[in-house]
Amino acid sequence: MLPSIERLLILQDRDQKIRILRLELTNLPAERSILDSNLASGSSRLDAAKLHARDVELEKKKLEVEAQAKRDSIAKFRTQQFQTRKNEEFQALTNEIKRFEADIEKIEDRELELMEEAEKMKATVSQAEKEHAATKAHTNQQISEIEAKVKAIEAQLAELDAEREKLGEGIDEDLLYQYNKLFVNKGGLAVVALEHETCMGCHMKLTTQTAVRVKGSKEILNCEQCGRILYYAE
Ligand SMILES: [Zn+2]
Repeated sequence: MLPSIERLLILQDRDQKIRILRLELTNLPAERSILDSNLASGSSRLDAAKLHARDVELEKKKLEVEAQAKRDSIAKFRTQQFQTRKNEEFQALTNEIKRFEADIEKIEDRELELMEEAEKMKATVSQAEKEHAATKAHTNQQISEIEAKVKAIEAQLAELDAEREKLGEGIDEDLLYQYNKLFVNKGGLAVVALEHETCMGCHMKLTTQTAVRVKGSKEILNCEQCGRILYYAE
């Protein structure tokens, strides 16, 4: 095998590692943002539960005040009934009292419903709080794992970049230029083996003449179909 091909193969190996690591690095922010949005939706579920619980409490308080006002009115009507001598007025007050008592009954029914609802909401809120706390702990753990991964990949990349820089120094400039272009344009595969007279990059059969020259291992040759640099694997 030509020494320059050997060097290119080592370079290609490093470049492929770099390529995979870069890809991983590009995907990590998306993973991270999924975690962030999970956390946000858990927090908004909790907020919604708390808000609903507060609304229930507010309505309960409002109804208590309303019922008390009606009870006060009834007491006032009864006093007025003692004071009046007119039958008509007495009857009108009786009707008012009945109407108010019916209102109070309705309010008390609703109050009971709200009390049940408040109990339920208490459980819902505490469940949501527990779930959110668990999600938060788990998610924060995952986020710090991602951050550690990013750091590790960046360190690996720095090492590989330095290594590839050195490897490149030993290779002919034109050949390196050709290799770099192929690596980018041919999906990270610039130097490929010739097997059974077939290019292992595009899987097309080469002409016998080219195949023979590649086997000779005396010159740099390219696939006639895809242009990749070929070498013969003994
Ligand atoms: Zn080819």
